[in-house]
Amino acid sequence: MKRTADVLVVGGGPAGSATAILLARAGLEVCLLEKSHFPREKPCGDYLNPGCVPLLERLGVLSLLEAECPQPIRGMRIEAPEGTVLMGTYPGNGIPPHGYSLPRYMFDTLLFEAARRAGVECHEGCRVMDLIWEGPRVTGVVADSEGQPQSFRASVTIGADGRNSAVARRLNLFSWHPSHRKVALVRRFQVAQDLGDLGEVYLGRAGYCILNPQGGGKVNIGVVVDQRDLPLHRAWEGVFCELLDAYPQVRVKLGDARPLNRLRVVGPLACRAERVAGDGFLLVGDAAGYYDPMTGQGVYQALKGAELAAEAVCKGVITREALGRYAVAYRREFASQDRVCRLLQQIVCRPRLCESVGRHLQNRGEHLLELMGVVGDLLPAHRLLRPGFWASLLVEGVPSLTRLIRCVR
Ligand SMILES: Cc1cc2nc3c(=O)[nH]c(=O)nc-3n(C[C@H](O)[C@H](O)[C@H](O)COP(=O)(O)OP(=O)(O)OC[C@H]3O[C@@H](n4cnc5c(N)ncnc54)[C@H](O)[C@@H]3O)c2cc1C
Repeated sequence: MKRTADVLVVGGGPAGSATAILLARAGLEVCLLEKSHFPREKPCGDYLNPGCVPLLERLGVLSLLEAECPQPIRGMRIEAPEGTVLMGTYPGNGIPPHGYSLPRYMFDTLLFEAARRAGVECHEGCRVMDLIWEGPRVTGVVADSEGQPQSFRASVTIGADGRNSAVARRLNLFSWHPSHRKVALVRRFQVAQDLGDLGEVYLGRAGYCILNPQGGGKVNIGVVVDQRDLPLHRAWEGVFCELLDAYPQVRVKLGDARPLNRLRVVGPLACRAERVAGDGFLLVGDAAGYYDPMTGQGVYQALKGAELAAEAVCKGVITREALGRYAVAYRREFASQDRVCRLLQQIVCRPRLCESVGRHLQNRGEHLLELMGVVGDLLPAHRLLRPGFWASLLVEGVPSLTRLIRCVR
C-alpha cells in the first residue's frame, strides 16, 4: 500500500470517484480515501438529471449505468400549494432528453468501482481525520483506517467528502448556512402500482415532498421541512408520517406501501465553504457548498465540478495560481445556478407567489420549458435571471418577485 501519491481524493461519492477517474486517466497516481464500505446508502432523491448523462458518458460509465436498468425520468410534475399543476419536460431537438433514477447505493458503487478499474488506489473504511501541513501548504492527510492512524501524502489534496466536509472544517473554511435551515427525511418504498416516468414535486405550506419513481412500483420519497417546523415530540418514523399527512395526494399513492430501506434523516442541509481552493488543496461537490435538494442538481454539480477539478490539477505543476484558476472556473460555472436555486426557494416558501408563478408558467409553455432546461442542467442558469423571463409576471404586478430577483442577482 502506497502512502504517497500525486493526488489524494477524500470521499468516494460522485464528486470524489469522478475526479479520481479523470485524474488517473490523465496518468496521475491517485489515492481515493472513503470512510464507508461500498455498497453504502446515501440519503438522496436518487435522481440523476439529464445534464448528468453526457458527463457520465465522458466518464465512460453511462453503459454500465444503463446496464443497471435505471428508471428514465422524462420530466417533472409540479403541484403548487393551492393545486396548480405544471407538467414539464426537458427541452431538446428531436427526442427530448431524459434523466435517470437509480438508488445511490448502486450508482455510487458503480462509480467507485470504475475508479478502481481506472487504476486509482482505493481505500474503503478509511476516515480522514486531519490534514498534514508544511508551513501554509496542505501536503496530506491523517486517516483512521480500520482503527489504525495512517498518514497519506500528495502534492494536492482534494476534499470531496460531502456536506459537513472534514477537509473544509480542518481548513477553517466551513460554515452552515445562517438562515436556510432545512431537514430532509428520505425513504424508498414498494407501492402497488407503477408510478410512471415523471418526478413529482408537491409544494406545501411548510416545505415540499418529492416522489422519484424507480420502476416496478419502487419509489423514493423525500420530505423537506424547515428545521423550526419539525414535530420533535415523536420518533422519526412518526415525524415522517406526520409530515406526509400534509400531502394527501402522496398518501393516496403510497397506499399500503412497504418500506425498502431505513428512514434517513439529514440536516441542516445548506452549508458553504469560504474558498474552494488554496495552497495544496481544492474542494469539489458538496464539500464546496450545498444549498437545497429541491431542483435535484447535486449530482450534476459533483460530476461537473470533478471535470473542473481534474482540468485544474492536470495542467502540469500544481501552483497556487492553477488552483486559483479552479476557484474562478468553479464560480463561473455554478454562481448563476446557485442564484436560481435561492430564487426558487424564495418563491416556494411564499404560497401566494408560488401560485402566481405556477399559473404564469402554465400559460407560458416556452418559459416552463426554459425552467426545465435550467434545472435539468441543459441550459445555462442565467437565462432564468434575466428580467425578460419574469417580465409578464412583473407587469401583472407581483412586486415581491421584483425584490426577490434583485436580492439574488
Ligand atoms: C435529502 C437529499 C436529497 C437529494 N436528492 C438529490 C437528487 O435527487 N438528485 C441530485 O442530483 N442530488 C440530490 N441531492 C444532493 C446530492 O446528494 C449531493 O449533491 C451529492 O451526493 C454530492 O456528491 P459528493 O460526492 O460531493 O458528496 P457525497 O455524495 O456526500 O459523498 C461524499 C463521500 O465522502 C465520504 N466521506 C465523508 N467524510 C469522510 C471522511 N472524513 N473521510 C473519508 N470519506 C469521507 C462519504 O462517506 C461519502 O461517500 C440530495 C441531497 C439530499 C440531502
